[in-house]
Amino acid sequence: MSSKDVNTKKVASKVWHNGEFIDWDDARVHVMTHAIHYGSSVFEGIRCYKGENGSAVFRLTEHMQRLLNSAKIYRMDIETSRQEFCDATIELIRHSGLEECYIRPIIFRGLDEENPAFGVNPFPNPIESYIAVWEWGKYLGEEALEQGIDVCVSSWSRITSNSMPAMAKAGANYMNSQLIKMEAILGGFAEGIALDDRGYVSEGSGENLFLVNNGKLITPPLGASILPGITRDTVIEIAKDLGIEVQESVIQRAALYLADELFFTGTAAEITPIRSVDRITVGPGKRGEITAKLQEEFFKIIRGERPAPNNAEWLTPITGDTNVKKSVAGLN
Ligand code: PMP
Repeated sequence: MSSKDVNTKKVASKVWHNGEFIDWDDARVHVMTHAIHYGSSVFEGIRCYKGENGSAVFRLTEHMQRLLNSAKIYRMDIETSRQEFCDATIELIRHSGLEECYIRPIIFRGLDEENPAFGVNPFPNPIESYIAVWEWGKYLGEEALEQGIDVCVSSWSRITSNSMPAMAKAGANYMNSQLIKMEAILGGFAEGIALDDRGYVSEGSGENLFLVNNGKLITPPLGASILPGITRDTVIEIAKDLGIEVQESVIQRAALYLADELFFTGTAAEITPIRSVDRITVGPGKRGEITAKLQEEFFKIIRGERPAPNNAEWLTPITGDTNVKKSVAGLN
């Protein structure tokens, strides 16, 4: 069992780096690291939940596949396989003793200190892969899941896919997210919703978005510069399982105000109801019935209290023993 407290945060005492486990305090980079200057990183956010049968990571394979997809878009050649990323994650959590945690794999362009390169051209810079895990509570607050949050439509547009592909979960995309988030916070809102470059609804700074209208779910298509969210996909599958119709279509800003219910989805945000947009009350101004039903099923699935739709294997257990140890160094 090995975790440690860093001020108020509980973190695993080890970090996985390029196939080895190193101490948390040693997981550092040089200030001339390419990613710091030019945003050249891709990453994931994954959660491990404690459930009926112990702790398990939710949709680990899908997250690691998206990580590799993001890396591929940015021509980052990775020697580690998807399975190796998954195994390393399980081993890291098992070793940490954390029952519930947030998992952050990241791949970036580093710095070859023997033969440094400082230009924009990323090719001379080595690829570095890390995985860190820590305890992280509810992203938008405990209360948000029940009461809902107040959001605004951002004056910033979402990145457009022909300049910064939203399909990649790249660090640089989060400069756009930060503009959206900061504007929202300074305006007294919990989160901002960005429109795409055509003016249609895209997504939150770190969440996908769903409307409920006449018992039907509506969500922006991938073409609206959204990240293909894994929670988004989860909600679509749960809805289908419950017999709720799901439509992916372009959404006008004004439709947000008129929705019966509105909610965000994301690994960090889970399923968070939205109670107002631009200070206009949405539906009943609190969590709606369909949102509550989807949340209920979602939380049952992530805790192993009911099978996933179509019996999909969405939970990877943190077993007491794995065969990963044989392939990685640094754990004791
Ligand atoms: N959009 C953005 C911009 C995000 O950062 C996230 C969080 N990863 C999401 C959507 C939701 O994706 P997921 O459900 O896979 O966490």
